Amino acid sequence: MRTYQGSCHCGAVRFEADIDLAQGTVRCNCSICMKYRCWPAIVKPESFRLLSGDADLTRYQFNTRTDTHLFCRHCGVRPFGTGNSPRWGDFYAVTVTCLDDVAIDELVNAPITYLDGRNDNWHAAPAETRHL
Ligand SMILES: [Zn+2]
Repeated sequence: MRTYQGSCHCGAVRFEADIDLAQGTVRCNCSICMKYRCWPAIVKPESFRLLSGDADLTRYQFNTRTDTHLFCRHCGVRPFGTGNSPRWGDFYAVTVTCLDDVAIDELVNAPITYLDGRNDNWHAAPAETRHL
């Protein structure tokens, strides 16, 4: 477990998050994850701290409106999202490629759990994952 510093592209949004990348990351084929090739680490709300840019974030919800997808209104980058699921309870989904002080090796070695969100089958991997 380590505290990482993260940001959007333009730097308006800054955050820090306590993440153990060895605990894994997520890739999913649901309608929104597919569109921007989402690659988050899932952390508890108390492990995430927004340092600046709350007013620069635009919030997007759809379908059941359980999850909130946040993106910077200046540069369009989505540094994190929030949600609630039976699997994780309340969570923050932190985009690991927005971590500014993460080592490439840490990303390469982070385990990935694939979710078949497209078929609403959140506890199994889709048959094909290479495009995610
Ligand atoms: Zn930005």
